Amino acid sequence: KVLLALESSCDETAAAVIDDQLHVLSSVVATQDELHQRFGGVVPEIASRAHLENLLPVIDEALSRSGKSLEDLSAIAVMTEPGLVGSLLVGLTAAKTLALVTDRPLVTVNHIHAHLFACQMDADNDIFPALGLVVSGGHTNLYDCRSATEYELIGSTIDDAAGEAFDKAAAILGLPYPGGPFISRIAEKGDPKAFRFPRTFIKDERLAFSFSGIKTAIRYTALGQPGSREPVPDLDEQRIADLAASFQEAVVDVLVAKCRQAAERYGRTTLCIGGGVAANLRFRERLAEMASQTGFRIIIAPQSLCTDNAAMAAIAWKLLEEGRVAALDADVVPGLVRLKQ
Ligand code: ATP
Ligand code: MG
Ligand code: FE
Repeated sequence: KVLLALESSCDETAAAVIDDQLHVLSSVVATQDELHQRFGGVVPEIASRAHLENLLPVIDEALSRSGKSLEDLSAIAVMTEPGLVGSLLVGLTAAKTLALVTDRPLVTVNHIHAHLFACQMDADNDIFPALGLVVSGGHTNLYDCRSATEYELIGSTIDDAAGEAFDKAAAILGLPYPGGPFISRIAEKGDPKAFRFPRTFIKDERLAFSFSGIKTAIRYTALGQPGSREPVPDLDEQRIADLAASFQEAVVDVLVAKCRQAAERYGRTTLCIGGGVAANLRFRERLAEMASQTGFRIIIAPQSLCTDNAAMAAIAWKLLEEGRVAALDADVVPGLVRLKQ
């Protein structure tokens, strides 16, 4: 059995065909990075218009690459929360229409849960229960995952998300958008100890994150403090590399420490980590070190399923098993998911 999944929550238009054994038959992602690059971030109105243009070709491509047709589908899945309202509506409207014409069940999926479920997709056996960390462009959320479908939010950022911090740091250093991969690449040539950036909440009892302080710190170090007469050294390639490496090390320190703290508090020995920042090689390296120190089983989403994609909506198979079919008047739930602290 196969299902078709759609994703349009932010600025990637994606479709995938996944079978009930969680094999990805096809996964097509049309990124809008170029459209938003000159604005240094996603422009919602431009995003929804691009989804409208890209979605049908992306669905066609996903179906043809999988060798399946509409008649072969057992269900239609779509991410409906959280995200940009206009963007989400494009995917949901397409999914409802497909569900109606094919007379197949519609399954609505939480995009952040799907980022975590991506960790299950290449695993040999069930990874849940587990402690989950989603580190993406809009979220830095900790979850206690009791089962494949029951995720309790136990911590989140009080300001910027980790991916957002990477993007803003990159902009300060004059690197392209989205910044994460560029920071990561240039950091390889830098000294992570060159600058000491804040590690907010690292020793705090609360399961909370904050990345606005480090953003200000890298801005002042790179570009100088407003009103200060101190000369700032030129942002040459070595200085950019040192700033990037020091920034990345500080963010990774916090992420690793917090997921360890959360796992210990909730008595979980399996950790799953998803979202765009989980693609970061230094982060993956440091998680592997933590695994060997603690004995925790650490499962990071496969590289191709870290940043936005539709394949991770395979969580829909688990929802279907529980009979969680959506009505054709289902709505989107836009915005961000934050724990009130
Ligand atoms: P959300 O899932 O919260 O709605 P999103 O879907 O925009 O946000 P993702 O697609 O999961 O986020 O991730 C994108 C983010 O991941 C960007 O901020 C990007 O800079 C970051 N990112 C991608 N690759 C890397 C990397 N190698 N190192 C660090 N950050 C990265
Ligand atoms: Mg994106
Ligand atoms: Fe995402």
